[in-house]
Amino acid sequence: MSNYVIELPPVPTLPVAGSDALFPVRRIYCIGRNYAAHTIEMGGDPNREAPFFFQKNPNNIDLTGEFPYPAHSNDVHFEVEMAVALKSGGTNIPVDQALDHVFGYGVCLDMTRRDLQGEAKKLGRPWEIGKAFERSGPSGPLHTVAEVGHIDHGRIELKVNGQIRQEGDINQMIWKVPEMISYLSEYFELAAGDVIMSGTPSGVGPVQRGDVMVMSAAGLGSVEVRVV
Ligand code: MN
Repeated sequence: MSNYVIELPPVPTLPVAGSDALFPVRRIYCIGRNYAAHTIEMGGDPNREAPFFFQKNPNNIDLTGEFPYPAHSNDVHFEVEMAVALKSGGTNIPVDQALDHVFGYGVCLDMTRRDLQGEAKKLGRPWEIGKAFERSGPSGPLHTVAEVGHIDHGRIELKVNGQIRQEGDINQMIWKVPEMISYLSEYFELAAGDVIMSGTPSGVGPVQRGDVMVMSAAGLGSVEVRVV
């Protein structure tokens, strides 16, 4: 018998490809503007200024293959990204030891209420209303380092209704995976279960109900998500 005064909420998880194993998600960090071409399309400076991060809620992850168009927005954008899942963590992790903490990689979407995010930016308000809403993180399964190695290059793309809308190469990241782990660990205590969404290449754009998005990355498979 437990001492919880309400039923224990379910632990958000990501499936591990090729098995029935589950990766429990503790936190989700998302890096902003990590591909030069996307930085330019969002009006930013693609030079290597310090990275910035925001968070989604772990239970924003969605594995159903459906993305319900959210309320209070008329401009909901896709952002295809590579997810990096940590099996351990710590603080002040050196860049050359950062990859030792990686469990695996996956492909995911950082769905964004762009109009609400834009309003928040303009007013100097936090981004959660634009970024951390229900089912805003459609995700594919994780592929373990043992299976796919460490992913530092390879095509990443998003198609909508069969048309390529976003494409890039993971080697175009401004801040590489070991650098983002190291940087984050200076500000937060990272731990097993943390997931980093590593930024999106250029071509972000809106979806409508009925659209079919297919996200894929080299070695990480592809995942179809229908906007409903
Ligand atoms: Mn993003």
